[in-house]
Amino acid sequence: MNDLPSVAQRFLHYVAIDTTANPESSTVPSSPGQLELGRILRDELIAVAASEVHHDSNGYVYATVPASPGYQGPVIGLVAHLDTSPDAPGNSVRPIVRPPYDGSVLTFPADSYLTLGPREHPALLDHIGHRLITSDGSTLLGSDDKAGVAIVMQLVADLNRSPTPRPELRICFTVDEEIGKGIDYLDVDRFDPQVAYTIDGSGRDVIYAETFNAASLVVRINGRAVHPGYAKGLMINAIQLASSLVGRIPLRERPETTSGRAGYYHVHTLGPADVSHAEMRIIVRDFERGGLEARIDQVRTWATEIEALHPGSQVSVAVMHEYSNMRDAITHLDPRVMEVAQEAAHAMGVRLTSEPVRGGTDGARLSERGIPTPNIFNGGHDYHSVLEWNSVENLEHSLAYLKSLMACWAARCGRPTTN
Ligand SMILES: [Zn+2]
Repeated sequence: MNDLPSVAQRFLHYVAIDTTANPESSTVPSSPGQLELGRILRDELIAVAASEVHHDSNGYVYATVPASPGYQGPVIGLVAHLDTSPDAPGNSVRPIVRPPYDGSVLTFPADSYLTLGPREHPALLDHIGHRLITSDGSTLLGSDDKAGVAIVMQLVADLNRSPTPRPELRICFTVDEEIGKGIDYLDVDRFDPQVAYTIDGSGRDVIYAETFNAASLVVRINGRAVHPGYAKGLMINAIQLASSLVGRIPLRERPETTSGRAGYYHVHTLGPADVSHAEMRIIVRDFERGGLEARIDQVRTWATEIEALHPGSQVSVAVMHEYSNMRDAITHLDPRVMEVAQEAAHAMGVRLTSEPVRGGTDGARLSERGIPTPNIFNGGHDYHSVLEWNSVENLEHSLAYLKSLMACWAARCGRPTTN
């Protein structure tokens, strides 16, 4: 392990701590391991002489790296999350650093049936010669988002060792991102950057600056219960009405049939349901605000149709806003966030591709609060599964990219010092 670069050593250290988010928990953070990792990061930040290091009672870790003299640009926030997904086991993670990858199918010591190969995971072929990092097959790896944490920590350590030009940096490690609560207890006054980046995206040389517009609809159906033997013309079965509404969702507008920029309707839960009452939650997603509104109207129309077909029934639709596409906030609030991100890649001789996120991110909610926050790659792949992987080289590349990003902000917003 000692022959590995520092960012990879940090990563291997952090993934060993179980920070699985617990959706059933009522505590903040939802699992004790997140506090444990937060304490380690706090101590390491103090050791590398970061400023204003603070680990709060909710588990968030904050720190500042002062700007180099003459910097006049915005304060830049960097965000990564401490927790890992509850979708796969995250306790006793035993990471394996593999020999340089040769394109073959990888096997796992803890599960002889499990394989990771380029046929199902073609991105592997872009990593020939990389030292891939996986779990032993019994857990996820935790690259989402301990890769982001390790990269940011290494950036802070390296910047504090060298006099290179940089903006003022505000670091924030959040908790419970994986259960949708990453921003709930964020102390915005303490964090307070003008623009930010989350380091939480999969892949290499990718920036994610678009999310769905998202809403959650609760459909409540009241029917009429009557003895089934004497129900003719009287019974209105709420379960039948619910299934009739579900059946109206076009086959091609469901999560299992959509990808890329296509939105969807998703019946998330159905129940409690009996003859007299049924309730379901439908989530709707669309990259365009107008598209989301149209989907919400469509569900209302279906509800009205079903009510009209069954006199005596009631079908109501309650709408809850979840999050908005961050693209609009990012481009309106400060277009430099994306411009400098591209410049930083260009300076390294690579091109950033921009991909939409088919889900929410901390950045979407920060952007809604007025801090434009796209999401930057951290090198990992196949998140939320026991097949999750990253590579030593990807971690180094992501770190180099962040350094380039800082240098580009400094070059754009710095003023030459006179002495
Ligand atoms: Zn993540």
